[in-house]
Amino acid sequence: MFDTHTHLCHRSFRADREQTFERAREAGVNLMLEISWDLRSSEETVRFAEEHEGVWVAAGYHPHDAKDAPGNYLQRLEALAKHPKVKAIGEIGLDYYRDLSPRDVQKRVFAEQIELAGELKLPMVIHCRNAMDEVLPIVEEHGYWRGVFHSAAADKEQADKIVQMGFYLGINGTITYNGKRAKSWIPLIPRERLLIETDCPYLTPVPHRGERNEPGYVRYVAEAVADVLETSVEEIAELTESNGRNLFDIEA
Ligand SMILES: [Zn+2]
Repeated sequence: MFDTHTHLCHRSFRADREQTFERAREAGVNLMLEISWDLRSSEETVRFAEEHEGVWVAAGYHPHDAKDAPGNYLQRLEALAKHPKVKAIGEIGLDYYRDLSPRDVQKRVFAEQIELAGELKLPMVIHCRNAMDEVLPIVEEHGYWRGVFHSAAADKEQADKIVQMGFYLGINGTITYNGKRAKSWIPLIPRERLLIETDCPYLTPVPHRGERNEPGYVRYVAEAVADVLETSVEEIAELTESNGRNLFDIEA
């Protein structure tokens, strides 16, 4: 299985990162995309990936951290992104739910990183919370439409639009809560555009809700998707792994 959104470099894994990684392996997770949120975490995730087979990296500035991006952050990201383990720019986007950076700064840093991804021809991992009406026009305007909308909290109309533009959708543990809304549109998404992810340590799926999330739990997401699509977990695991390899250009 391919967990396309992990944060094993988050401080909550500091004490047991290796054990968590091993548990994921035992649970059948052979691929992970480790997602960064600023320059320091981008360096950390690259180091972690260098030391672990099957771990790949998205480097970039999260909207929460956009306000702290130094003046030369784009040049530094660009240099980092040349590392063979870096397969995406992310996570980038807008978060108008927590508003941890001023909105104009979020928009500028998002737009600049879309341009960077386009120049480097890397897919983007897009984070969008309570801001879909603003994210879609920014992406449209910049004309570079490759990547995944992770934690896809879209309604059916938005999901349609995202897919039409050529993006993938990342499904995570929230589908196991009360995913009625997601469940209604997942069957309408072309199967070759579906990815699964944990977003660990956040968004822990049932039956572990309330605990820290970890990559091994991506199986519960696969089960929930299989349930909605009335197919087997094995098929979803295989499908989403192959989709992830295609998007992030990872050879089998
Ligand atoms: Zn994330």
